[in-house]
Amino acid sequence: MKYAFVTGGSRGIGKAVSLKLAAKGYNILLNYRSNDVEGEKTKAEIESLGVVCELLKFDVADKNSVDEILLGWIENNKEKTIEVLVNNAGIRDDNLLMWMTDSQWKNVLSTNLDSFYYITRHVVAQMLAKRYGRIINMVSLSGLKGMAGQTNYSAAKAGLIGATKALAQEIAKRGVTVNAVAPGFIVTEMTEGLDEKTLSAMVPMKRFGTAEEVAEAVAFFASPGASYITGEVLNINGGLYS
Ligand code: NDP
Repeated sequence: MKYAFVTGGSRGIGKAVSLKLAAKGYNILLNYRSNDVEGEKTKAEIESLGVVCELLKFDVADKNSVDEILLGWIENNKEKTIEVLVNNAGIRDDNLLMWMTDSQWKNVLSTNLDSFYYITRHVVAQMLAKRYGRIINMVSLSGLKGMAGQTNYSAAKAGLIGATKALAQEIAKRGVTVNAVAPGFIVTEMTEGLDEKTLSAMVPMKRFGTAEEVAEAVAFFASPGASYITGEVLNINGGLYS
């Protein structure tokens, strides 16, 4: 009854991560916000690999929903263990700082950063008790380098990198690792509006990455073999920045 819990697992990088962890034998607890069709489709793909997939629909930025739905699942499923948590759900809503609205700032910060706090504190308790766990946070090149037009998103992802390093130190001695993965440009719906041809020219590998290439790194951090690595941030960006 071992589960991997992936937020934003219905599409894009989260979907690739969920499929990869399912292929490694984990049952999947799959969170998404609104797109039921994609949620059901991904659940069917995961279950075709021979594991169980349970859908847990809630907005990761909404503390009350997290408390009610995630805590409710944990309370009602005491025989099941979340061994791997992937804090992947995220949004971007770009604007130059001088034109940014309060809601653009708040939504991006709460979805990418507050969600880590709302969710991880509930999941980590069980990991500490079991003295085993793997937490992987999806950050971004933007949080390391900073990107013009993304002060909100860069701040959120940089904050998540800090939280990764702090929590890693808090819980290292209990066998729970906390690491982050920092993708550059990856082909998903999030990057659909970008000029792929022009931006690819800036990447040493001359292309965008795939969600599956990010999932490989997440699966490594999630594996028992990554037991002596914690507080680390791994760049996956085709050589764009390190
Ligand atoms: P997508 O937009 O392709 O997919 C986002 C997923 O997250 C969907 O499953 C969506 O569900 C879910 N989601 C969005 N908001 C919420 C919410 N508030 N609560 C719960 N679920 C939510 O994104 P990507 O796969 O591209 O991005 C995944 C992560 O990777 C993000 O954290 C992003 O910041 C990061 N990243 C992406 C890069 C890229 O180039 N694509 C680069 C660097 C980092 P639904 O469809 O139901 O809304």
